[in-house]
Amino acid sequence: MGSYEFTDHIYDVVVVGAGGAGLRATLGMAEQGLRTACVTKLFPTRSHTVAAQGGIAASLANMGPDNWHWHLYDTVKGSDYLGDVDAMEYLVREAPQSVYELEHYGVPFSRTEDGKIYQRPFGGHTTEFGEGAPVQRTCAAADRTGHAILHTLYGQSLKQKAEFFIEYFALDLIMSEDGVCQGLIAWKLDDGTLHRFNAKMVVLATGGYGRAYFSATSAHACTGDGAGMALRAGVPVQDMEFVQFHPTGVYGAGVLITEGARGEGGYLTNSEGERFMERYAPTYKDLASRDVVSRCMTLEIREGRGVGERADHLHLHLNHLPPEVLAERLPGISESARIFAGVDVTRSPIPVLPTVHFNMGGVPTNYWGEALCPTEEDPDAVQPGLMAVGEAGCSSVHGANRLGSNSLTDLVVFGRAAAIRAGRIINPEEPNRELNPASVEGAIERFDRLRHASGQTPTSELRLRMQRTMQEYAAVFRSSESLAEGVRQMRTVADAEADLSVMDRSMIWNSDLMETLELTNLLANALTTMVSAEARKESRGAHAHEDYPDRDDAGWRMHSLAWMQAGEVSLTYRPVHTKPLTDSDAGGIDPGLIEPKARVY
Ligand SMILES: Cc1cc2nc3c(=O)[nH]c(=O)nc-3n(C[C@H](O)[C@H](O)[C@H](O)COP(=O)(O)OP(=O)(O)OC[C@H]3O[C@@H](n4cnc5c(N)ncnc54)[C@H](O)[C@@H]3O)c2cc1C
Repeated sequence: MGSYEFTDHIYDVVVVGAGGAGLRATLGMAEQGLRTACVTKLFPTRSHTVAAQGGIAASLANMGPDNWHWHLYDTVKGSDYLGDVDAMEYLVREAPQSVYELEHYGVPFSRTEDGKIYQRPFGGHTTEFGEGAPVQRTCAAADRTGHAILHTLYGQSLKQKAEFFIEYFALDLIMSEDGVCQGLIAWKLDDGTLHRFNAKMVVLATGGYGRAYFSATSAHACTGDGAGMALRAGVPVQDMEFVQFHPTGVYGAGVLITEGARGEGGYLTNSEGERFMERYAPTYKDLASRDVVSRCMTLEIREGRGVGERADHLHLHLNHLPPEVLAERLPGISESARIFAGVDVTRSPIPVLPTVHFNMGGVPTNYWGEALCPTEEDPDAVQPGLMAVGEAGCSSVHGANRLGSNSLTDLVVFGRAAAIRAGRIINPEEPNRELNPASVEGAIERFDRLRHASGQTPTSELRLRMQRTMQEYAAVFRSSESLAEGVRQMRTVADAEADLSVMDRSMIWNSDLMETLELTNLLANALTTMVSAEARKESRGAHAHEDYPDRDDAGWRMHSLAWMQAGEVSLTYRPVHTKPLTDSDAGGIDPGLIEPKARVY
């Protein structure tokens, strides 16, 4: 192994990631008076959050009646009863405050006539506990909400004097001998130097792993590095089998057309011109939950009612909407449709297909963002020194299926919660412990091994094999046979990591090595997803199992935990938190309303 030198840094908190979750955590930590560093492989405003279109859910009731009980009901039902109810209550109760905070930080929300924050309907968000009309709950800045939020939070973080380490790639966590996370090692991409960050708390805010699939709406940087690092450090990941397919990715390109398009009145049709969602979801039609709409679309295509030469996609119509609405509310997707599908939305429908969009699974946490490393005695045992927020984490407010526009809420609510918690448990006066040299060495050995990888398989080739395997076997519909085959193939693909070939040995701007590091993280995410999916013998949310078409609450209302050791995945389970935070006598929701029942939209 070559010899490596380090630059050392000491902080109270190191946040990995500068998307919405990472920036909200960074900003909050700095506000708490903690010495905070934010390490990010991308320039902050290039994080995937910038691409979020439709908006952020909060029961502001600006457009009509709404309240957090209704939002909680929708979120619990949307999660197909797998979400942790305490965390979900925290999410929906804190949502309005968090949105007003964003407004005061300077997010340029769209406005109503009387100057309030504009809100639009989104799938699965209803009134009267799923009995009333769709609610207008999703706060929007046209169809560029994530862009507005990310830029605002970056500005605010700079104002709070948080320190940014930009284009630093986090390689691995450093763990003490007694299992405390002590910091991390990062590689500075533009000059090739290595950095040791010693921190009392590391916050993983590294986003999702959509790029494990062939066709995804997420950015190329969404490679699940946080989960990869956690798994290597002996921390499990939770509920990985639940991968959300968004109903409307542009056919071929995979680029997203926001659900806000259907919120503003868009609808889907099949080859017969039929608005087929009316058949499957008589009440909410095109605004049913995403898992439901994606399944219905897949069924339509399977039954031969797809559109196009190969009858393999469907149409999304916006051409009946007034051009001024399209220009004002949906300018971004009008442009995307033109560029990626060659369609003028004022005249023709957009060709669309369910496309991988969001990962419900991630590093398990409580509703303070503290990572969990469950034991047999304590399924809620906290992993000291580690937090996870945003799409990298699993708190679990989305359960088996996320409602559209609840993710941006998740980012800011739990980014903020993590900061509040860290402010309470970290003592800035206390000196940091010395880093465990064995852990540092292990991480560097791994880095050096990959840097000098001299097998036969190019990174791009193995990545493509993984993406095709995931696309085919961990799809919208799964079966015992397809999942068994998926596990077999994913194991072979993951084993081929040992045969990778990296051509560029340099340390500076070595994109070959960076993509290889990302691939190893993707492989860990992909394998745990496939193994967790194969084991779950029921259908729930985004996990639609053809041999077990029903939800099985007695047997399977529990979180799966996937652990990894020496490349092997093992599974354990932990109970779902079914109790709300607040008693119904004290103003909380009536628990009877959130008991599991059939999910009809
Ligand atoms: C196209 C699209 C549209 C969406 N629209 C909406 C919407 O309208 N409403 C909604 O609620 N949700 C939406 N979502 C979902 C939501 O936007 C995402 O879940 C959310 O933005 C994820 O934010 P994040 O902060 O967790 O991660 P990201 O924004 O993905 O940021 C990840 C950060 O981690 C850093 N990072 C990762 N790995 C490393 C590493 N190894 N070292 C250093 N840094 C690292 C990156 O540099 C980046 O800064 C959308 C998603 C997509 C893909």
